[in-house]
Amino acid sequence: MAITKVWLDESENECAMCGACEAICPDVFEVPEKMVVKADADLGANESEIEEAAQGCPAAVIAIENDHSGKRDNT
Ligand code: SF4
Repeated sequence: MAITKVWLDESENECAMCGACEAICPDVFEVPEKMVVKADADLGANESEIEEAAQGCPAAVIAIENDHSGKRDNT
């Protein structure tokens, strides 16, 4: 499995701006206000941290797409 895309999905909830994702994976996530995925983020080098951040997000708004299963999030 390779993560091909990560994004903020606020279709159901809003980012709580808690900063947890940035604390877990600062190479990929920034929380200047709401979370943003860094433009130059190396997704392949941070897969386990991305998964951990998505699973730990209290608002369940970190969406992940990978090359086998398509879009999903941590719900
Ligand atoms: S962990 Fe979730 S709620 Fe908290 S800043 Fe990151 S995306 Fe937003």
